[in-house]
Amino acid sequence: MQIKKYIRDIQGFPKKEILFKDITPLLNDPIARKETVFILAESLKGQKIDKVVGAESRGFFFGILLAQELNAGFVPVRKPNKLPYDTISASYELEYGTDSLEMHTDAIKKGDRVLIHDDVLATGGTAKAVCELVERLGGEIVQCNFLMELSFLNGREKISRYPIFSALTY
Ligand code: AMP
Repeated sequence: MQIKKYIRDIQGFPKKEILFKDITPLLNDPIARKETVFILAESLKGQKIDKVVGAESRGFFFGILLAQELNAGFVPVRKPNKLPYDTISASYELEYGTDSLEMHTDAIKKGDRVLIHDDVLATGGTAKAVCELVERLGGEIVQCNFLMELSFLNGREKISRYPIFSALTY
């Protein structure tokens, strides 16, 4: 199955210079969606995962499906002031300025084996901040896993300490 044909390119969203990778056609097709979960899960080669951590917001879709497939917990990492309980936060650089991400303090236990998931690996800033949150709570990062990687942005350099898997590369 060609998953790539379920990713729609939208030129100029949300800003003029961006070629946005729209995953909604993939979400909308049950067979392609199932195949995608299978490919992402299979990349772990049977390694045990305690928690899947998904980055807001498009990392939630396949993150939760993966957690279900792997029989693991699911942890949402969110933009500031969205999570109701005690949080830790990590900031990362944007093109202009910085932003931050938060996670609940009780989401990861020391020694938990963690899979980090997001839809797109672009500059790697988001993934690096998520890794930092997981490690501050004592989690062990087994893999950073993405639907797709925009390889020309060299995001994997920022998270080169960890195993990386991308189902699709552009
Ligand atoms: P980065 O921190 O630069 O690696 O950006 C990753 C985050 O931004 C992910 O959560 C993606 O959802 C989003 N993102 C970045 N670039 C794109 C793109 N071209 N199309 C869709 N989403 C993107």
